[in-house]
Amino acid sequence: MPTSELLTADRIEEIAALESASTDPGALVAELVGAVDEGRVADPDDTGYALLVAVDILEQAGDLGDALTLATRAIAEQPDDNAYARAVRGGLLLRLDRADEGLAELTELRPLLETDPEATYLIDELAESGRVETAVEWLTGALDAILERTRAEQHGSEDAQDKAAAMIYGLAQQRHDLREELGLPHDDYDNLADRLRAAGEHALGALDDDGPATLLFWPQAEFDALLVRWPALVDSYPPHWDEHRDQIERALVDAAGAGPTDLGVVAGSVAGLAAFAEQQGGDPTDETTLDEYADSLSGTDLRAWPPGRNDACWCGSGNKYKKCCLPRSRS
Ligand SMILES: [Zn+2]
Ligand SMILES: [Zn+2]
Repeated sequence: MPTSELLTADRIEEIAALESASTDPGALVAELVGAVDEGRVADPDDTGYALLVAVDILEQAGDLGDALTLATRAIAEQPDDNAYARAVRGGLLLRLDRADEGLAELTELRPLLETDPEATYLIDELAESGRVETAVEWLTGALDAILERTRAEQHGSEDAQDKAAAMIYGLAQQRHDLREELGLPHDDYDNLADRLRAAGEHALGALDDDGPATLLFWPQAEFDALLVRWPALVDSYPPHWDEHRDQIERALVDAAGAGPTDLGVVAGSVAGLAAFAEQQGGDPTDETTLDEYADSLSGTDLRAWPPGRNDACWCGSGNKYKKCCLPRSRS
């Protein structure tokens, strides 16, 4: 069906969330690629993203050849920021038995593992194409490099230290789990991963009520309704829901970097907050009321953070975490 409609970022995300349940993947791919072909992507910066969602749909449908063509096109569409697209292309080449080309593509990106917390998508590509041992080797190398750098820069900025700590935590956990998959016994880094995880679980018990462990999050519909119901809250929240979830993801990344701790979000609702405030005789727009409301939810409805990379994102978008708030908030 010909159309002149613009393809918005919301629609691309909606398609990304639909993809695994879709009965007609071809129609979704046609919608995405058609919009790119005809210059109907509302924000031209989303062109590469639209193509990568189409790549993912084709991959799920087993059409690796067409997926490769579109991934190559996505790389060309965003020459300044194409590391993720190149990693996807590398993974596809590996799965198409073009191992030399695939490994060459991924190897060029490998240094990112030492500087970019998001770059663990490289590891996913290796692991998903059966190269778990290579994935472990790369994780080991990245951990070695980051630890050496932190030792050399002991007086580095606090930001740099937080970032390094968060990366060490993430890389060590991923490595631990892949090595477990390979049936390997624990080594020093595995013990480190266990210690960091255990320290987090221990810290949860010690947290006081206004600790940073649990953040109040508003699902999209609730977020919009919230500001309509209590306009005074516009001062406390960003104007758009996307920024709201980005802020929460960033705060959680910061908290994880400050020291491993069990982190989570609780989802608020307008009706819930109204009832809570009335029962407490508090003002729903007051910071204290909001904190107490979040605490009241954490006993029953805590969503642990971070979710598994392939699990549903904590924000409720329906997308996998690795394709939703994980990359969106770190770019
Ligand atoms: Zn262990
Ligand atoms: Zn999300």
